Amino acid sequence: MPTATATPKAMIHQRYGAKAVYRVDEVREAVDGVCPGLALPQSTRCVYRCQLDIPGVLSVSTPGTFARKKDAEQAAAQIAIEKLGIQPTSNIPNTPEEAWKELIRRISRFFTEENFPTSYHPLVGHLSVTLRRTGDLLGKLPISAIVACDVKVHILCKIIDPKAEFDPLLVLSMIYNAAKQSLGVSVSSRNLWIQSQRPYSPEAVDLALQRWSGISDPIRVEAVLIPCVMEDEPKMVSLNISENEHYMGDIASKLSATDSSHVLVSRTVDKASPEMRFYFPAPDVQFVSDLSKQLVDDRGDRNMNCVINKRASYISGQTIYGDAVLANVGYTRRDTELQTDHVNLCTYYRILLRKLPDGIYKISKDSILVAELPCVYTRTSWKGPSPRDLLCSFCRLQRLSEPHFAANGVSASCNVLVGSEEMGSPKATAGNQCANDGRIAKENPDMFKCSVKIYSKKRELLLEYSTDYSWSKETDAIQNSALKVLIWFNRYFKQLNTPVEKFYLPKSTDGFTIYPNIFLQEFAMCLSVYGKTSGGDSRTCNAVGYFSMDTSYQQLESSAFLTDIDGQDSGVFPSHGSLACISYSVHLFMKDSRTRYLLEVNNEFEFEIGAGAVRNQLESCATQLSVNQSACFVDQLSDRDLSLAAADSCVLEFSVKVLQVTEPLEDRMEKALFNPPLSKQRVEFAVRHINQLHATTLVDFGCGSGSLLDSLLEHPTTLEKIVGVDISRKGLTRAAKSLHQKLSKKLLLQTSVPTAVLYHGSVTDFDSRLYGFDIGTCLEVIEHVEEDQASLFGNVALSSFCPAVLIVSTPNYEYNPILQRSALPNKEEEQEENAGPCKFRNHDHKFEWTRSQFQRWATGLAASHNYTVEFSGVGSSSDEPGYASQIAVFRRMARDQGESSLNEDDSHQPYEVLWEWPNASIPSH
Ligand code: SAH
Ligand code: MG
Repeated sequence: MPTATATPKAMIHQRYGAKAVYRVDEVREAVDGVCPGLALPQSTRCVYRCQLDIPGVLSVSTPGTFARKKDAEQAAAQIAIEKLGIQPTSNIPNTPEEAWKELIRRISRFFTEENFPTSYHPLVGHLSVTLRRTGDLLGKLPISAIVACDVKVHILCKIIDPKAEFDPLLVLSMIYNAAKQSLGVSVSSRNLWIQSQRPYSPEAVDLALQRWSGISDPIRVEAVLIPCVMEDEPKMVSLNISENEHYMGDIASKLSATDSSHVLVSRTVDKASPEMRFYFPAPDVQFVSDLSKQLVDDRGDRNMNCVINKRASYISGQTIYGDAVLANVGYTRRDTELQTDHVNLCTYYRILLRKLPDGIYKISKDSILVAELPCVYTRTSWKGPSPRDLLCSFCRLQRLSEPHFAANGVSASCNVLVGSEEMGSPKATAGNQCANDGRIAKENPDMFKCSVKIYSKKRELLLEYSTDYSWSKETDAIQNSALKVLIWFNRYFKQLNTPVEKFYLPKSTDGFTIYPNIFLQEFAMCLSVYGKTSGGDSRTCNAVGYFSMDTSYQQLESSAFLTDIDGQDSGVFPSHGSLACISYSVHLFMKDSRTRYLLEVNNEFEFEIGAGAVRNQLESCATQLSVNQSACFVDQLSDRDLSLAAADSCVLEFSVKVLQVTEPLEDRMEKALFNPPLSKQRVEFAVRHINQLHATTLVDFGCGSGSLLDSLLEHPTTLEKIVGVDISRKGLTRAAKSLHQKLSKKLLLQTSVPTAVLYHGSVTDFDSRLYGFDIGTCLEVIEHVEEDQASLFGNVALSSFCPAVLIVSTPNYEYNPILQRSALPNKEEEQEENAGPCKFRNHDHKFEWTRSQFQRWATGLAASHNYTVEFSGVGSSSDEPGYASQIAVFRRMARDQGESSLNEDDSHQPYEVLWEWPNASIPSH
C-alpha cells in the first residue's frame, strides 16, 4: 500500500505556510575531471545551496551543495524538520481500519463541532449557502461538496481502498457509509444529502454568513458539456448561479439529475485552474453499508461500462459516468467567496492537447498553431522546457509514474575495437555509435549513455529505451534520450491504430522495448478516446478531432514559393542551423462569409531552422525571407486544427516577419577568427585551381545557397559553364535568386555570360549531364551526410562523374578548440552552454574528421579510382593542429581512350533542373 508521505517542503509548508522563506544561492564549483577531448574544457559547474528562514522559529542552511535547486530546498526543509522534531506521518493513519475510523471522526467533526461554522474550511462556504435557505433543504449539503473541498478525506479514502483515487463513486459511497456512523450527522439514503442532526446556534449561523459572503447578483459561468456518447460533440453550457442556491444545483439541472445531491465530482483536472472539475450524475446504484468492495462487484455485474464517459474519464484519470459538465467553480481556502471562471471549448481542447508530448511543447511555447516538437536537441538552441521536463509532464498528465532515467558513464575500453589504430573520432552526436564503428574514443574516456524507463501508475514497466549513443555530458545524454522517447510517443499518438502485433516484435533495433500488455492496459482509455475503433482511416477519428499523421518533411521542401514579399532584401536570411526570431499572426479565414478570426499572435518567437521545430509551411516561408522582410501565406487546416473550426471552408492565414537571425555557431566562429572569412578563403582556393587548369566547366556538389557559384561570378575566370547540385530546394532557391541577380547585372555590363544551371538531386546519385567536367568542388558537404554516404559520394564522384580535378573540403576536427575559444570570448556562461553540444562546429554535422581520418578516406578513394590526391587547406597555417578547413585535391590520371566515354549515358539523368541561365526557354546553342 502506498503510504502518503509528504515531502519535507510540503511538511514545512503545512505548518508555516508562506512564513517559510527559501533562499537559493548559485555556487560555482570546480569540476575535477575536466571534460576530455577537444571540446572546451569546462572547469566549473553550477550547484546550489539553500537557506531556509522561518522568522521567529529557526534559520537553517544546507551544509553541502546540490545539482538541482529543488533538491537544495528539500534538503534545507529536511534539516528544519529534524531540528524542529516534526513527525513525518503525524495523524495520517497506516491501516485501512484506522483510516476508516478517522474518516468517520472527521465527517462527524465537520458537522457537529461547536466551532465548525466559524472555521475557514471551504466546506463552510458550501454550508453557508444552505444556511441561507429556508424550509426543507436548510443546512443540507450534497455529499459531493465534501469530495470537492477536503483533501484529507481523499487521503483517507485512498488508504481504505487505493481504487478510490480513480473512482469518485467509490469515494462517495465511502463518505456515505462513514457518515452513517458519524456522530451527530445524518444522511438520507435516497438523496445523498448530508447534514448536522442538530441545528446550529443562531450566533454560529450569523458568523458563517458574515464570513462567507453570499452572491448578490446571479453569476453566469460558462462550462462545457461533454456527452457520454462519443459521436456527440462537446458543447458550451451556461451555468446560472443564483443567490441562496448551491452551485451544484444548476449543474444538476444541466445533467438532468434530480438535484445537487445526485451530482458527483471528479478531482481537479488542470493545475492552472484549481477548481476545474467534472460534474456528473450519480449512477443508479444502491450503496451497500460495508466497506465498498461489494459496490464495485455490483457495478461489474450491472455492466456499467456502457455509460462510462470516456473523454471525461481520460482527462480526469477517474471513472466518470454519463454526460459530464466541465466547470471551474468552487470554494477554496484562499478566499471566502465562490470562485468561478469560464471554461470554454478552447479550454477543453487545450487540456486534451496538453496530454500529448507535442501538445505540452506547443502550449509551453504559447504557440499552438506554429510550434512543433523539434526532432533534435542541442542545449544552445533548444527553446522551451527541456525534453526531460516535457517527458515528466507527459507521464504525469497520462497518470503514469515518473519516468526513470539511468545515465551511465561509458568507459573508454568498451569502445576500443581490436585492430583499429590511432586517433578516435568524437562520439558526441547521434549517428556516431559508441560501439561497432571501428574507431576509438581514446581521448574521450568519459562518455555518457542514458536509458529511460516508463512505468505505469502501479510501477509496472511498459516502455524501455536504451541506446548506444553516448554523449560527453550527462545532461546531454539524458535530454537526448528523453527526446527520443517523446518522439516515440508523439508518433504513437498520431497512429493509434498501430496493430498490437507490432508491439510484439523482439527488442527493436531502434532501442525501444514495449511491454504490450501493460502498455495497452495503461493507454486503453486514451486509445478509445482518440479513435482506436475507427479502423485504418485516421480522418474518421473525430472523437476529439485531432489526430492524423503529420505532413511529411518532403512537403516542406516542395511547397510553393512565396509570391508577395514585403521589404528590402537585407541579405541576412535564416539558414539551416540558425536561430530565427520571427513575429507572426494566424487568422482563421472563412471562405463563405469572408470573415477572419485572429487565432494566435506572437511578437517574438524563436526557433531553430531545420530542427522540425515549427509547422513545415512556416519554416519554408521564413527561409525565403531575409531579416525585416515579411510575407503572408495560406495553409489548409489539418485534422488537428479542426478542433478550432469544424468547417470545411476555412483556411489558416499566416502573416510572418523575420526579425532577427542568429547564425549557427560554425559561421560565427569562422567569421570571428578569419579574415577574409573561411568561406571566402575556400572560394579563393577553388579559383586558383580553376585558373591553373584553364577550366571551362565547373560543378559544385552541395552548392547550398550558392556562395561559391556567386563568388565565381565576381572573379575573372575562364569558366563558361557553372553548375550547382544540392538536395535542398530552399538552398537552391536562394542560389537561383542571387545568381539571377548577378547575371542580369552582367548582362547589362555586357561581360561574358556563362551558362549556369542548378539541379535538385543528391550528390550520391550520378547524372550523366555532369560527366567529365574540368573541375568539381564539394565544399563543407560530406560532414553533413553519414560516413557511409560520404564514401558513396567519393566513389560516385571519382568513378562516374570523373572530373579532371575534384576539390573536397571538410572541417578539421583537431582545429575546433581554437575556433571555439576565439568565438566565445570570456563569457563564462556561454562557454558552459556551448562546450557540450557544439563539440562539432554545427550540429547538423554527422561527423568531423581529424587530419588522419580525412587522409585515410581520401587516399583510399584516390587509389581505387586512378586519381592522385594532395592535401591542403585554408585557415591558419599547416602547423599543428593543421588548417581549419582541410582540403583534398584529387587529379584524374591519364586513362585509356575506351574508358572515357563509358559513362556518357544520356538516359541516366535523375536530377531535376531547378533553374537555368540563360532561360531554358531560349535556345542557347
Ligand atoms: N557548399 C556550400 C554549402 C555547404 S552546407 C558552402 O560551402 O557554402 C552543406 C550542403 O550540402 C547543404 O546545402 C546541404 O543541403 C547539402 N547536402 C547535404 N547532403 C546532400 C546530398 N546528399 N546531395 C546534395 N547536397 C547535399
Ligand atoms: Mg558544414
